Amino acid sequence: METKPKWTQEEVVALYNKPIMDLLYDAASIHRKYHDPNKVQVSTLISIKTGGCPEDCAYCPQAARYHTNVKSEGLMSVEQVKEQALAAKAGGSSRICMGAAWRNVKDGPEFDHVLDMVRTLNRLDMEVCCTLGMLTENQAQRLSEAGLYAYNHNLDSSADYYKEIISTRSYDDRLQTIENVRKTNITVCSGGIIGMGESIDDRAAMLITLASLIPQPESVPINALVPVSGTPMEVMETVSIWEMVRMVATARILLPTTQVRLSAGRTNMSTEGQALCFFAGANSIFSGDKLLTTPNPDVNEDMDMFQTLGLVPQQPFEKRNQPETIATEMAHYHDLGERPKWSRPEHKIQRNIAKQQNK
Ligand code: SF4
Repeated sequence: METKPKWTQEEVVALYNKPIMDLLYDAASIHRKYHDPNKVQVSTLISIKTGGCPEDCAYCPQAARYHTNVKSEGLMSVEQVKEQALAAKAGGSSRICMGAAWRNVKDGPEFDHVLDMVRTLNRLDMEVCCTLGMLTENQAQRLSEAGLYAYNHNLDSSADYYKEIISTRSYDDRLQTIENVRKTNITVCSGGIIGMGESIDDRAAMLITLASLIPQPESVPINALVPVSGTPMEVMETVSIWEMVRMVATARILLPTTQVRLSAGRTNMSTEGQALCFFAGANSIFSGDKLLTTPNPDVNEDMDMFQTLGLVPQQPFEKRNQPETIATEMAHYHDLGERPKWSRPEHKIQRNIAKQQNK
């Protein structure tokens, strides 16, 4: 099967719904053309600042407004992060993703601290990724100079369904941050979550949006919702393995050269189910017993799975060269003290402002 530059909604929905054997065959053929099917990247997520987030993402236990068991914790020290990264590296991980529960990055001491973390981890010869919320172009450039390899900013779902799950920012805010990252040497990581009540049309629309970005994202995580008690999505049913396989396979066909990452929700999947996802084109997993705050299979289980399936972990920088870390004093981009205004579409704050203006 050949890949296409442009896909229509109908074509992608038809692809997603194909008989599973045909879909697997098509996706696996493309996967083998662009990737080594026996290599899977092991990545590790570190929550460098947990909980207390002002956003209202309906799936997230870190949102301050929901009553979950997540305890807020301040920013970790560079030493703590380095220690966890070294342990992850020893366990076969070649990529570290640092997540902070922020709405957006604010220039100042905390961001400077994150830049130090990026410099430190890049010197460990690991791919360094961050997910810190919305970013300005200057902030993206500063991360790039620090040696950041990738920036994660998920689209989560389709533009249409996005407003059903988040009201404190818009889809366009999301795309703007991705565009800001694209203006630097940092690679783009952006994907979504299935199982939030969205339709197959929404899944297809999200993949079309990702596939239409020029260039396409280097990395696309596909997450299955982990319903967490205390969040608005606590009652959602777990997605079936077949939905995950179909989503991964469709992503692989639309995004042939991208790393498709099997992300949250792996605890509910058997080795056989994960093997189907790898066959369908997934070529990365997240290791460690926690994915930010939700459970994940432990490293030993994953290594057993690799052995059973004859998989080998991908080495760092196989897909792109290691970025250079520019020392702070040599940097071209400095703290601008930016406090950009992002939208709050249809959020209570916006509605209150409108009400006051109409008085
Ligand atoms: S997903 Fe991120 S932005 Fe949304 S509530 Fe959770 S930590 Fe905040």
